[in-house]
Amino acid sequence: MKTYDVMVIGSGFAGMAATLFAAERGLSVAQTGATGGIDFSTGFIDLLAVHPIAEQKVWEDPFAALVALRRDLPDHPYCRVSDDEICRALEQFTTFLGRHGLCYRGRTGKNTLTLTAAGTMKPTYLLPCTAWNGVKAWETKAPTLLVDFSGLKGLSARQIAEVRKDSWPNLKVARIKFPGMGGELYPEHMAWSMADPARRAELAQTVAPFVADAEYVGFPAILGMTDTTAVLSHLEELLGRPVFEIPTLPPSIAGPRLRAAFDRGLPALGVRTYTQKLITKAACSEEGFSFTAGSGSTSVEIFAKSAILASGRFFGKGLKANRHRIFEAVFDLPVSQPENRALWHRPEFFDPQGHEVNQAGIETDENLRPLDAQGRVFHPRLHAAGAILAHQDWMRMKCGAGLAIATAYKAVASL
Ligand SMILES: Cc1cc2nc3c(=O)[nH]c(=O)nc-3n(C[C@H](O)[C@H](O)[C@H](O)COP(=O)(O)OP(=O)(O)OC[C@H]3O[C@@H](n4cnc5c(N)ncnc54)[C@H](O)[C@@H]3O)c2cc1C
Repeated sequence: MKTYDVMVIGSGFAGMAATLFAAERGLSVAQTGATGGIDFSTGFIDLLAVHPIAEQKVWEDPFAALVALRRDLPDHPYCRVSDDEICRALEQFTTFLGRHGLCYRGRTGKNTLTLTAAGTMKPTYLLPCTAWNGVKAWETKAPTLLVDFSGLKGLSARQIAEVRKDSWPNLKVARIKFPGMGGELYPEHMAWSMADPARRAELAQTVAPFVADAEYVGFPAILGMTDTTAVLSHLEELLGRPVFEIPTLPPSIAGPRLRAAFDRGLPALGVRTYTQKLITKAACSEEGFSFTAGSGSTSVEIFAKSAILASGRFFGKGLKANRHRIFEAVFDLPVSQPENRALWHRPEFFDPQGHEVNQAGIETDENLRPLDAQGRVFHPRLHAAGAILAHQDWMRMKCGAGLAIATAYKAVASL
């Protein structure tokens, strides 16, 4: 049986962050997990933009929002993490991504409004550098050309211009044929094809007649897979304008880009990843944890002295539900949840308060160690991070990736 210092259960934002932080502290790490939120994400790292949910109050300063949140919601997982830990976590996470070709940018202590595929402006804390010129174009309301492609679903330049017409009248649109491809297009194929400089030149040639007096040119996020910075600079040179990307509707390539960066970077830190394998059996003793990852003839037995549970909520499969209750899938930890199923959802789907079921999760102590049914620490060396933590609705509060990364940092520090 293989033995590690830490087993990280999950390969979403929380699992990737925990794996990175533990490996960079010199621990031997095994990681299991399958597709998670990270694969569908926009690539934006939200820290905290909305609180209280019921008032839908939007904050420009996420750290001021954190002060209010910690005052109002003493059980929220952000109460277990200091601002200093959050900043160090984000810095370490984005530095790693930068080293592996994914540059991130934001404004210290401030959220930034960024354009979405729906044409709405979303507040986020850190965004891929490839989206940054879009922020500048929006803030100055500069004449801008938005390009989309025949056959590509998930981003319509015309829809964005229509939604923004009052606040950004200088948006022009062009639908073009993507060079070398026809029929239904997929962002990932398009992005890989942009590795070829000749393809970029053809694209620039097709777009050039529409540019006219536009000061910026925006594209759906298809500008390269592993070399986005180089692809963007080349297009800027060819078009003579700053260029930016807008993430397409999920699944966009932001997720595969993030996963690819971790696939490149984690093995070099000595991490053993058991990709697309879920933990099917777990047992704990004073010495640590025995796991079975996967099932049947390809299953693997793993022993770890400590473990980090970063298995997400329903989407990630960290929580499961039957007609009566919600349960935690690996250790059957108690799940904080509404008293009965009738209370899971409010009658109105779009109720601004959100739904109780979206705050379900596991309870922890100050150091993010899950609690058992008696409120005692379940195991001294089991920690939890990310969406599986109770008392937070990351989607409505706009704190998904930020909360996952910050709690992963705290969980690893507490080990
Ligand atoms: C469509 C979409 C868009 C998003 N956009 C944004 C955005 O713009 N900004 C932002 O900040 N956040 C965004 N998010 C949120 C973000 O991607 C994460 O979902 C969230 O932060 C929670 O991450 P997590 O790692 O805790 O859980 P998840 O991402 O759900 O990952 C859980 C992981 O645990 C694994 N797992 C589950 N059970 C087991 C098991 N038994 N054994 C081993 N592994 C297991 C899963 O396979 C998965 O890898 C978005 C999410 C989605 C779905």
